[in-house]
Amino acid sequence: MVNQGLRLTHWVTLCCVLLLAGCVQNPVTGARELGFIGTADEVAIGRQHYGPTQQMEGGEYVLEPGLSNYVADVTARLARMSDRELPYEIVVLNSSVPNAWALPGGKMAINRGLLLELDSEAELAAVLAHEIIHAAARHGARNIERGMLLEGAMLIAAMAAEDTSYLPFVVVGAQLGAALITQRYSRDAEREADLYGMELMHRAGYDPYAAVTLQETFVRLSEDRRSNWLSGLFASHPPSAERVENNRATAARLGSNGELGRENHQQAIADLRRRAPAFEAADAARTALARNDLPGAEAKILQAIELEPAEASFHGLLGELRLRQRRPKDAITAFDRAIERHAGYFGYWQGRGLAQLQLGQRTAARSDLERGAGLLPTAVAMNALGQLELAAGRQRQAREYLNLAAGAGGPAAEEARTTLVRLDLPTAPERFIASRSGLDERGRLIIEVSNRSPLTTGAIVVEVRLLQEDGRVAQRRVNVPGTLAANQSRRFQSGLTLPADTPAERVATRVISARVLD
Ligand SMILES: [Zn+2]
Repeated sequence: MVNQGLRLTHWVTLCCVLLLAGCVQNPVTGARELGFIGTADEVAIGRQHYGPTQQMEGGEYVLEPGLSNYVADVTARLARMSDRELPYEIVVLNSSVPNAWALPGGKMAINRGLLLELDSEAELAAVLAHEIIHAAARHGARNIERGMLLEGAMLIAAMAAEDTSYLPFVVVGAQLGAALITQRYSRDAEREADLYGMELMHRAGYDPYAAVTLQETFVRLSEDRRSNWLSGLFASHPPSAERVENNRATAARLGSNGELGRENHQQAIADLRRRAPAFEAADAARTALARNDLPGAEAKILQAIELEPAEASFHGLLGELRLRQRRPKDAITAFDRAIERHAGYFGYWQGRGLAQLQLGQRTAARSDLERGAGLLPTAVAMNALGQLELAAGRQRQAREYLNLAAGAGGPAAEEARTTLVRLDLPTAPERFIASRSGLDERGRLIIEVSNRSPLTTGAIVVEVRLLQEDGRVAQRRVNVPGTLAANQSRRFQSGLTLPADTPAERVATRVISARVLD
């Protein structure tokens, strides 16, 4: 988890070498362009963020290894024909959102929700070839070079408002991966990915006309405005009638003579289609959980488990529900079942760790929370680990965890920030309670103190230092009457009187001690 800091440093270093930018030839378009992120950097960025980004997007879909093999085979067939050799890799993610993405360096993912919308193997090839071009033509790397990831970060904030995603709640280093996959590519980059992607699928022996029907499907889906579509593929790849027309022209030029593989695809997704009602029930349960409708969620979760007891995420959802119902023992049973079926998803470990905390089983909780945070460092896990370290009297370790949690969003980050203030206020009160002073017309010193912390404080002592005519410094301590609530200020008579003409810059005040009262 300490790695997060290193990752960030790596990132900042990347941005700092902007001045050293050189001219490189684009491996796909052949165009000369400015660039400072080399192939080794692209591959390293992709590797670093591949795991956490998969976790944020639902984790790997492990129930159907056959489906993963099918997608990997189509990817390999395209990768062999790519203009650029990269360590291409793909996973199927356990999410109903119709989405696919590529990180710099060729690490890719496709959601089961998108596989279900595709009609043929050639349409899958069109999706994958498009993503391969984004990676091969350095589109993501170029966005980093242009500092466009900020836009991605804003998109994350927008998404946080409308879904129950974990994105805003992961610690800072891991958020960068999310920015990479939600970035909006330029119109030129989209045109390039469409055009060169179709040429790539054609070289690999697929019918390029599938890229036209694919775009038509996307336009239809985006017009439906079905739930979740905005946070998926179409946020980063806006579909349009223009793209349909462009693809039609490219297909006409290339010729409609490749493989379509409709039957092959329908066979590959047959089990997924059969399981669709179970996943729909689970999605409805998630929506109910987000609305705090616990009975509604329970009915849907039990329905999903009855339809498909082998799916890990359904048991994970039941665990989440039991946690919310403060039934930690039942939560542990449910998370046990989820972990048995898929040990590679952070949510099950984190959930079981939180349930163990509710039961006061600190050692077990710590081990599970660490395991979860190793997969995806969330504010929830970091804050809980920080509180555990604090209870064990290990302040330094506690601070490390709490600082990581405090940088993220959500209630756990809030709690971490408050805990840090509680720790630091007694030793450095001037960081949290500001003070200033002034003289009234009779030379009486008035002091104002302002509590900038989120906690009520009391027993505040202000030190007043006066630089005298002869150069010596006189010191007095003044007790602040009463207590100060969060963000409250108070002005009071210090009881000290100075010559009325004393210049303001000769008087300095500083809070030297205070106590947290709540
Ligand atoms: Zn695209």
